Amino acid sequence: MRRREFIRTAVAAGAVAALASCGCPAGPGAATRKGGRDRMRLRYSPYEVQLAHTFTVASYSRNVTPDVQVEIEYDGYVGYGEASMPPYLGHTVESVTAFLSKVNLEQFADPFCLEDILSYVDSLSEGDAPAKAAVDIALHDLVGKLLGQPLYRLWGYDPAKAPATSFTIGIDTADVVRRKTLECAGKYKVLKLKVGLDNDEEMVNTVRSVTDLPLVVDANQGWTDRQKALDEIFWLSSMGVRMVEQPMPCERIDDIAWITERSPVPIIADEGIQRLRDLPGIRGAYSGINIKLMKCTGLREAGRMISYARAEGMKVMLGCMTETSCATTAAAHLSPAADFADLDGNLLISNDRFEGMTVEGGIIRLPDRPGLGLIKL
Ligand code: MG
Repeated sequence: MRRREFIRTAVAAGAVAALASCGCPAGPGAATRKGGRDRMRLRYSPYEVQLAHTFTVASYSRNVTPDVQVEIEYDGYVGYGEASMPPYLGHTVESVTAFLSKVNLEQFADPFCLEDILSYVDSLSEGDAPAKAAVDIALHDLVGKLLGQPLYRLWGYDPAKAPATSFTIGIDTADVVRRKTLECAGKYKVLKLKVGLDNDEEMVNTVRSVTDLPLVVDANQGWTDRQKALDEIFWLSSMGVRMVEQPMPCERIDDIAWITERSPVPIIADEGIQRLRDLPGIRGAYSGINIKLMKCTGLREAGRMISYARAEGMKVMLGCMTETSCATTAAAHLSPAADFADLDGNLLISNDRFEGMTVEGGIIRLPDRPGLGLIKL
């Protein structure tokens, strides 16, 4: 039986069990046996993501996002991954490609050894989360393709439970906010407003002059006085805002906990956390966490963060960067496990390379093709 046929047969017998007991060779360097098996080959190339509109949040404006596209080829299949680097996290095309140049996947004989491979990738440096996420996403895509199954199915998620995604409107003049709201109000069920400068009230009133859709807001650490922030949150709640993301600078954790205790709506950590190891440090300070693959090193760690958050009674939001449908679709495969999804990064760009997740009537629709289910455009 050919390898691909064998693997597909294994899926029918239980894909998750097959993954859990793959009999991986022990660690880097151990998988050097001969026998004609293919080896994983990693490729990467810079890609500048073009934004459809200038994007402004409380701390910056920009028109492009640097990005690196990644492929892992094995046994005739190609897994796609992506590193997207918004400026506030400090990563660059140079730092990502320098990291990827150190990654040697050819030492691993079996791409199903996700634990070993991704632990090795993580061990190569302390940071470099977007570069690690790119490898993680490509490897998951590859494994899904080898098994002939979409990722959500391997993880046991019902795609019908994928949530609505919010669509983000950046900070702008009243005219532009009104125009953008008119453009998107009929297509989405939730709008996300960036606030945190001195025109929050105008932004919200402008949106409310156009639509009654539920809103979520992201202050991107922009509020500095906790009492004023709480007063604004109560007003926002009265205006139909259902959730507030990162109200104050993340180092002001005692003030954020004070707000969370009194807030009528959930307070979600974004800049305040990156990885699983950050979560014990925010216990009690927020109602939930915004998990982004580019912050947390990818799908493997994101799944663990979801489990941790649930154990702590926290809400789960899945976010993204401005990126192609590759990374956004990867996060979307986890979305049936989330309370809030903000997976619109691919919708905010003008040069997407893939067709992947779609949004129908505001709801995330997952492709049912193997792996991420991407079609290269
Ligand atoms: Mg945010």
